[in-house]
Amino acid sequence: MFKKDFPYFSNSDITYLDNGATTQKPKVVIDSQIDYYTKYCANTHRSNFGDANKATREFENARKILKEFINASKNEEIIFTKGVTESINFIASSFAVDFETVIISSLEHHSNVVPWHMQGRTIGKGLEVVKCDDRLNFDMEHFEELLKANPKAFVSITHISNAFGEIHDIKAITKLAHSYGAVVLVDGAQSLAHLKVDMQEFDCDFFAMSGHKTFAPTGVGAIYVKEQYLNELKPYQTGGATIHEVDFYGSTLLDSPYKFEAGTQNIAGVIGFGKAIEYLSHVGYANIETIENDVYKYLRNELEKLDGIIFYNDIDNCVGSLSFNFEGIVHDDIGILIDKMKIALRVGHHCAQPIMKQLGIKGTIRVSIAFYNNYKDVDNLINALKRALNMLR
Ligand code: PLP
Repeated sequence: MFKKDFPYFSNSDITYLDNGATTQKPKVVIDSQIDYYTKYCANTHRSNFGDANKATREFENARKILKEFINASKNEEIIFTKGVTESINFIASSFAVDFETVIISSLEHHSNVVPWHMQGRTIGKGLEVVKCDDRLNFDMEHFEELLKANPKAFVSITHISNAFGEIHDIKAITKLAHSYGAVVLVDGAQSLAHLKVDMQEFDCDFFAMSGHKTFAPTGVGAIYVKEQYLNELKPYQTGGATIHEVDFYGSTLLDSPYKFEAGTQNIAGVIGFGKAIEYLSHVGYANIETIENDVYKYLRNELEKLDGIIFYNDIDNCVGSLSFNFEGIVHDDIGILIDKMKIALRVGHHCAQPIMKQLGIKGTIRVSIAFYNNYKDVDNLINALKRALNMLR
């Protein structure tokens, strides 16, 4: 029903099921890029001529749109970045670096693992990992034990696992963490495309967002920083656009968000991010959740009919991505064969090697849907999988 809004689908006969990696972009977003570059291409927050003022207005409007969409308290709490990876690296090096312990979950993307390793943290040495059970459910009791043993920890946890679609109960996690004096960052890379998020309800301290996984251009994202941390947080980079006054004896910085947005920003990307969020609001989460639940259940039911399929978690607590393998079959072989049948999905470790190692596997076949996917896409996938399995068995 919504594919007509996405030019990719009229130009391509691919069945696109790799939305966990990146989403397609609606025409309104693509048009906004062409508009910026052809009608008012100018830098923001600097010059004072008409197009420069328009660029600044559109850029700041995107901040307002995002602030309202996630129900942040103030525009200043939204800081634009390149994406979730940069958002986490920013908070890791400017804020969390001073914490004795960082607690993550077993289902983290490498972007929420490697930055901690780069600080010299490994398990038991400044880094702790919350266990999950054999169906990948987050172990709240273990989390509480870790919080008790490490008061005032920095908790950095994904909302939705990109590898398995598992949803973490962020409200409960944040409540418990705060009761032990911990500070919470949420990796929301997979969130906005599927579920409504509300900063007042989540009550997390930082929330990292990715534009390209939310129907916006690549190379743009944001981090929500709760107002109380804006003063304490040190800039990750400094330079042009971050300062109030500079001479050779020192510099005074602007207030948030500007002191955190050094150099010329991805202006078109930010404007496109705003347009993608407006588009999402127009589609509405009521629609998104109904369509996705329906397609996800159909997908899971149809997959369950295939011989030798192995799932690693249950469907009840998942959204977006679904990971599986087939007994005796190498996931890469399936990937190669179904690519020839015009099915786009990802096979491999999905940037989540630690959990793959814990499960004793090298990777999975991951189907990740968005609200524009439909039963026909699932049927195309199932037919391709059947053909591939016949060739490989
Ligand atoms: N975290 C999760 C859960 C992801 O799925 C991804 C991307 O796959 C990232 C972080 C990295 O996001 P970005 O591409 O915006 O840096």
